Amino acid sequence: MPLYQYRCPVHGPVELRHPMAECGIPHECPDCHQEMRRVFVALHHWWPSNHRPGFENSGQRAFLDPDFQSRARDQLAEAKEAHVNREAKS
Ligand SMILES: [Zn+2]
Repeated sequence: MPLYQYRCPVHGPVELRHPMAECGIPHECPDCHQEMRRVFVALHHWWPSNHRPGFENSGQRAFLDPDFQSRARDQLAEAKEAHVNREAKS
């Protein structure tokens, strides 16, 4: 069973194992039986950096930076245009 992280209002972070199907239902703290909120672990915490070569420099920026995205689109459009021009000349 997968391990999930919850946060108890009294005890703080609590790890629970339960079937994936129970993800959407509330879980209570095993100690104080308060309802706990699921903690979503950020991607970069569990994805080792050596498993994503180049991601830091390009992929991540593309997600975060709208300028980067539009520049990438422009470059793609230019590349297509250049290709078409080459085809027309030959
Ligand atoms: Zn608790």
